[in-house]
Amino acid sequence: MNNAYDGSRDMRRAIDRLARRLPEPLEDLAWISYNYLWSWTPGGSELFRSIDNYRFVQAGQNPVRFLLNLPERDLLRAATDRNLLVRLGELAERMEQSLARPTNHVVSSGSVAFFCAEFGIHPSLPVYSGGLGVLAGDYLKETSDQALDVVGMGLLYRRGYLHQRMDLSGWQHEFWIEVNTDQLPAVRVRGADGLPVRITVPVWEGELAAHVWRVDVGRTPLFLLDAGLEENSPLERWVTSRLYEGSPEIRLAQYALLGIGGVRALDAMGITPGLFHLNEGHPALASLEIASRVAKSRGGDAEGLAALLAEGRERFVFTTHTPVPAGNETYDPEQFFSVLGRSVDEMGLSREQLSAQSRVDEGAADEPLGFSPLAIRCSSSTNAVSQRHGEVARAMWNPLFADKTVDDVPITHITNAVHLPTWMAPSMRRLLTTFLGANWERHTSDPALWRQIDEIPDVDLWQARCALRQQLVEMVRRQVVVDRLARGEDVALAESAFDAFDPNLLTIGFARRLATYKRLDLLFYDVDRLRTIIDHEQGAQFIVAGKAHPLDNDAKEVARNMFTVKRGLDLPNRVAFLEDYDLSVAPTLVAGCDLWLNLPRPPLEASGTSGMKAALNGSLNLSVLDGWWCEGYDGQNGWAIDGSVTDNPQLQDEHDAKALYDLLEHEVKPLFFTRDANGIPVGWLARVRSSLRSLGPMFSSQRMINDYVEQIYRPGRPY
Ligand SMILES: *Cc1c(COP(=O)(O)O)cnc(C)c1O
Repeated sequence: MNNAYDGSRDMRRAIDRLARRLPEPLEDLAWISYNYLWSWTPGGSELFRSIDNYRFVQAGQNPVRFLLNLPERDLLRAATDRNLLVRLGELAERMEQSLARPTNHVVSSGSVAFFCAEFGIHPSLPVYSGGLGVLAGDYLKETSDQALDVVGMGLLYRRGYLHQRMDLSGWQHEFWIEVNTDQLPAVRVRGADGLPVRITVPVWEGELAAHVWRVDVGRTPLFLLDAGLEENSPLERWVTSRLYEGSPEIRLAQYALLGIGGVRALDAMGITPGLFHLNEGHPALASLEIASRVAKSRGGDAEGLAALLAEGRERFVFTTHTPVPAGNETYDPEQFFSVLGRSVDEMGLSREQLSAQSRVDEGAADEPLGFSPLAIRCSSSTNAVSQRHGEVARAMWNPLFADKTVDDVPITHITNAVHLPTWMAPSMRRLLTTFLGANWERHTSDPALWRQIDEIPDVDLWQARCALRQQLVEMVRRQVVVDRLARGEDVALAESAFDAFDPNLLTIGFARRLATYKRLDLLFYDVDRLRTIIDHEQGAQFIVAGKAHPLDNDAKEVARNMFTVKRGLDLPNRVAFLEDYDLSVAPTLVAGCDLWLNLPRPPLEASGTSGMKAALNGSLNLSVLDGWWCEGYDGQNGWAIDGSVTDNPQLQDEHDAKALYDLLEHEVKPLFFTRDANGIPVGWLARVRSSLRSLGPMFSSQRMINDYVEQIYRPGRPY
């Protein structure tokens, strides 16, 4: 991008400011700190940690905050550390090379603007809640790795997503922490006049104003809109305060800012996207802004909205992530227009026509309004996020295409995947580099590459797995002591965690948003059978984590019930609940578990991605055949529970819990604990190899981005 007012100049100014605080030999740390590329470049995280691990963690792994708060003497010490300077030079060179590559244009008409309500890039940028955000973050990172011209658009939630604290009974409490924007690796974008770029969107009775922040995710800029401005009213400021706010009115205002404001912000920065990618329905109102521009270019005649949307359609593609009607948020029309009526009026669009376009049945005046129907209608392509989700989505949205049979509904799928350099632990990456060659990460979608996994000797693979489990156990020990003390457990019990959790046990993980359909409760369905599985010298230990949405009392109840069962088991250090699950915990957890569980009620898991992250680290999956696992499971590379849909949920739970315990007791445990003379579980490792071989090429984001470019972005468009 050559435009001078897209924040790149502001970024350079911020970097210069930080560089002036650093001793000369460390100056490169300034620009490195302002580009999240460091977080997935080999040696990046290690470099900051070796300056002062404790302070780096205290700074939330935010390098800008870390450097701004590091005492002068520590900076001077680092500046004379030869070894550190050599590693700094290597990191800078790797990053420079990545940033200097020529751009690979996706389509010739301009960059792809990827709009999403959340982005999970790094723990230090708390604008994500779970899978959707992490997927969006992985997407941006992979577009940078492939040098594609993509920009991200989202919101800067100043209080981010909730933090979790459990009380003694296991009931979840929430709190929020405000981020200090001055110390984020982000800059406020300024225009030609030197003032912050400012856009407005009419919301409620006023003009909601927002500034734009720029965050560099490798070569891909992420722009975040921020309504936390003095000129806004307290209510207006609240719009970018918290992610997935409980009030539908606030959410509507958020999605208006994201969709309408996002298009205006790009315009104000001089960026004209060739394509808008709506990731989930939240930003769908972007289509109105484009429609109104089409209308205005005609002198504002009273053309129908449907026709205007049809004209803008070539510029929109939509990815749906939600397999149930209830997951596709809808709004009462009166509420909708009390928040957004003026916006719609000022764009010269008709409220009635917008209502019709936002309903499944255009003519049903009593049907609430939703963003998914609007997004489907305004986009030239709609895709689901796994093959099975594609089937579910075609059936679900068939009513929008009344003249078509289910199979002909024009919704395809691009199966989700994860960013390998982010999710494969550094030690695994090094191991694979040894056996797959120095440049293996450039072609991770090539199955032939992954066949070389067979060349890794058992002993090396097993050592790598044991080291990852050991790191996880150490993290769990430290964190569980603190969690228990914080909720007021007995000091002795809290302290017992510090040398409990065993690095030699079969370690089983379950961590993700606590929504009831994820069925964490299946794990605790039959206490006696659970005890049989864990209470043994060669037993298992469970590590569980996840947050419930503040208003989801059913999910909170599931967590509380787990605490009750845990207490009853009387084996306090064989089941750990890690509080406040987020991106600072996830990499260690997915890498360190031997077995990763996913137990959704089918067909409600659109894709699921945490199991892919685990697989990349040589962990094995045991999952219900739903979402990605229908494509991933081949009979040899993990374990599966039947994924058919029934109309009797109680029976299904009973059946699935039994299947889970049977597999754990009769297959997983014996395979893990059957060892050869050297203590190596040869049969287990054969399965690990088969998992890496088969899942590596399919579920690394390189494959996913290739699919988006070839199947969604380019067909029918010049490039
Ligand atoms: C990957 C990830 C998720 C998604 O997990 P699923 O099993 O796909 O639901 C949620 N939260 C965090 C922090 C993640 O990294």
